[in-house]
Amino acid sequence: MTKIAAPTPDVIKEAADLIRAGDLVAFPTETVYGLGADATNGEAVAKLFAAKGRPSFNPLISHGANLEMLLGEADFDDRALALADKFWPGPLTIILPKSQTARISDLACAGLKTVALRIPDHAVALALIKKSGVPIAAPSANASGTLSPTAPHHVADSLGGAVPLILAGGATQFGLESTVVDLTGAETVIVRAGALTAEDISDCIGLSVTYELSAADKPRSPGQMLRHYAPNIPIRLKVIDLEKGEALLAFGSTKFMGIKGGGKAGDLPPNQIRNLSETGDLLEAAANLFSYIRALDKPEHTRIAVMDIPNTGIGIAINDRLKRASET
Ligand code: AMP
Ligand code: MG
Repeated sequence: MTKIAAPTPDVIKEAADLIRAGDLVAFPTETVYGLGADATNGEAVAKLFAAKGRPSFNPLISHGANLEMLLGEADFDDRALALADKFWPGPLTIILPKSQTARISDLACAGLKTVALRIPDHAVALALIKKSGVPIAAPSANASGTLSPTAPHHVADSLGGAVPLILAGGATQFGLESTVVDLTGAETVIVRAGALTAEDISDCIGLSVTYELSAADKPRSPGQMLRHYAPNIPIRLKVIDLEKGEALLAFGSTKFMGIKGGGKAGDLPPNQIRNLSETGDLLEAAANLFSYIRALDKPEHTRIAVMDIPNTGIGIAINDRLKRASET
């Protein structure tokens, strides 16, 4: 049985007790809903991999409530400290060499000598981690490879009985996973696009930053897998007109978009169209992305057709997710 509950102090305590007992708890963060387990407990982490159906070669991000909680887990260099100071709590994950004294289990790091760390910017997440007293490993709270959850009922739909408690904290703010920066080498490399861009990172550390979002031959981060975030029906990108039977994921004005064979996109019935942001606001679009794809992911549509989205700022992350969602 899954319990979905508002995060009152009593419920947070119950959640922390579950975490400490090696069980799973889903909780809101500012990015997406996470499925949490005690990162220091290998058995709890194994349960987490099983609940998601996630391959255990794909390492997890461990979340702290404050820097002190994480300093012993990794060898922080000057870049890491500067980034932590500026962007934590926030939607930034850093990958560092795992320290000798680390308590985070090898399984959470998929046996790698590196560890991925973050402090989320959400009161419920922070309260849960603090009360648990351990770093919490938390990937997105959905079955591996599917759309990330941005509301509590998405978690229940995707994971069902595999999670005993879901802390219901409303819809998430960013709606996209954190930016992941690899600091294990001399170069600073973004291996997953998110709300923070290369420019944000570069401005903070005073060094150049590159993107390496897909490395088909030799992924430096196992999360660079091509197909991910996948709905059940196909996705067609950068559409300029619609084909009959397609649902439309719009961005900005649909005034001039036609349907082949006749008709206008603006006249589609409500179940066949969602607009990520009528005003063309990329932050609003990111926040709506996964839930709108979900809403259109219905067998009565042949495909989800997505309008072009500018590749700047968080638009880079949106386009990255759309590209992976459209891979077959
Ligand atoms: P998720 O847990 O699904 O939000 O994804 C975590 C992301 O961080 C994935 O892209 C992982 O491949 C990446 N990641 C986590 N830990 C490491 C690590 N130790 N080394 C490299 N990439 C990592
Ligand atoms: Mg995920």
